[in-house]
This record gives sequence, C-alpha cells and structure tokens, in this order.
Amino acid sequence: MAATVIWGNELASKFREEMKQELEGLKKEGIEPGLTVVIVGEDPASKSYVKAKSKACDQIGIRSNVIELPADTTEQELVTLVQSLNEDDTVHGILVQLPLPKQIREEVIIETITPEKDVDGFHPTTIGKMLTGQDTFFPCTPFGVVKMVQSQNIPIEGKHVVVVGRSNIVGKPVGQLFLNENATVTYCHSKTKNLKEITKQADILIVAVGRIHMITAEHVKEGAVVIDVGVNRKEDGKLTGDVDFNSVEPVASYITPVPKGVGPMTITMLLHNTIKAAKLIEQKERIS
Ligand code: NDP
Repeated sequence: MAATVIWGNELASKFREEMKQELEGLKKEGIEPGLTVVIVGEDPASKSYVKAKSKACDQIGIRSNVIELPADTTEQELVTLVQSLNEDDTVHGILVQLPLPKQIREEVIIETITPEKDVDGFHPTTIGKMLTGQDTFFPCTPFGVVKMVQSQNIPIEGKHVVVVGRSNIVGKPVGQLFLNENATVTYCHSKTKNLKEITKQADILIVAVGRIHMITAEHVKEGAVVIDVGVNRKEDGKLTGDVDFNSVEPVASYITPVPKGVGPMTITMLLHNTIKAAKLIEQKERIS
C-alpha cells in the first residue's frame, strides 16, 4: 500500500495563515515582531535562503531586515554588529546565516547572540534548555520535523526513532526533541556499522545526511514513517532528498517529499520563533 505523503508546503501554509491571524491580534496590542538576518559574503545558496526567509516574513506581516556584509568582514566587526542588535528594542529575532567565512568563528558569533533573540535555537544556553526539557526556542528544522509527524497524529511515545546524521543543527537536536516526546532514540553517523540493520528497526526514520538517495527500500521497515531532511542537487539541477522516494514510498506508511517537504517547515518554525521572541520580550518589558 502506498504511503501517505506529508506535504510540508501545505502544512506550512496552514501554520502561516494561523500566524498571520495571531500577528493581527498582536499588532492591536502594539506588538510588531521584527527579525534581522545578517549575511556575510556572496554564497549563492545562503543568499537564496535569506531571501526566502525575508519573503516569508513579509508574507505574514513580520518586519524583516537583511544586513549584507562583505566577505572580508572581521569577527570583531560581526560581534559588534550582533551586540548592537542585542540592544535594539525593535529587533526581536537575530539570525546570522551560516556558514560564515573562515576568518569568523561560528561559535563566537552564535554565543554573542542573546538567548532572548536566538530564533535559530543554536546558542548553547538554548540547547541546554532544550536538553533539560525547558521551554525555549527549538532549532527550526528539527522543530519542523516534529510538527510534521504530530500533524498526522502519529504516536511518538515509546516508538523507536532512528536519526541518520548527528550535526549540531539537525541530527542531534531532532533526536533530542523526539526523546523529549518519550521516543526511544538511536543515532547513526558516518562511523556507524551495519546502518541498514539499525534503520530497519525504526518506527520513525529521520535522515539528515546530504547524500543523494542513500536510503532505499531495503533500509526501511514495512509501515515506518520516513522523514527526509536531506537536500541535494541532481545533475539536472533539480533538488532531491537523501531518501530514494520511489523505492521507499511503497514500503513506508508516511513519507516526506523533497522539495515541498521539510524545507518549507523550517522557515515556518523560524517565523514561529520570531513571534515567540517578540511576545516574550514585549511582555517582559511591560512587567518590568
Ligand atoms: P552535516 O554535513 O553537518 O552532517 C551530516 C551528517 O551525516 C553527519 O553527522 C555525518 O556523520 C552523517 N553521515 C555522513 N555520511 C554518512 C553515512 N554514510 N552514513 C551515515 N551517516 C553519515 O549536514 P547537516 O546536518 O547540516 O544537513 C544534512 C542534510 O540536511 C543536508 O542535505 C542539508 O542540505 C539538509 N538540510 C536541510 C534543511 C531543510 O530545511 N530541509 C535544513 C538543514 C539541512 P559524522 O558526524 O560522523 O561526520
């Protein structure tokens, strides 16, 4: 039996419509969320991501500002800019687009962003809160993945979630979020032996590697939920995932496509985090 396709673009539209309504209400209370995105250099992929984020903000009524810096910007210059954004009351969310040029240490910049405005969810304080089950900004792609699974009312508690990939921005946090939802979580990575044997045990298989079609039907248990985070460009220029969709779809119960899968949900969770940041900051200011 064919799997149900979880269309991230459709789900994203639904969430964005709800956020648009919420923003109208917040505006009446004098709260107008604002996101500032900083991009350093001319990387075409980064530029297109930044454009997509800013467009998504405009579409639902979040103020967005993009600051473009030259590729030879120094670490200190970027630190000084982020510090000024931390102090700016009109900025609720700060996102520094990664990767950064090699003269700038990413961890230094991430740690400069105040956790109150850390809408990407990469600051060690934010990660620590997520790890200890506290309310915080969840990193956007992992959060989007959880929302996609929950949108189908797929049970998570007690299920075996296998995550392929252990990056700090996707693999590790996505496993943690599912652990927080009481799943049993296994991580696989480049040193994992017998990958297939492990992925075949997954009730929910999440793949975030960046290798075209590395997961095929033989990696997947009958009836598993398969979430494909990977984004790869094929020779013909089209995008495709880490999962061989045509091979896996007949075996899985649910599957996400690429494109129109996790990607649109990532940006949607950024919008969510920006609204959350604005509400928290503005409420705090009113109380103090
Ligand atoms: P990284 O390159 O940072 O991490 C890749 C991970 O895959 C590493 O943990 C690596 O293991 C693991 N890996 C590599 N080879 C294998 C293998 N043969 N078997 C098992 N594991 C392997 O990538 P990201 O996490 O940043 O991104 C992963 C993918 O997700 C990319 O395609 C990226 O474009 C996409 N992505 C999509 C987003 C979206 O919104 N849809 C957002 C962010 C990323 P090790 O740690 O041992 O090196």
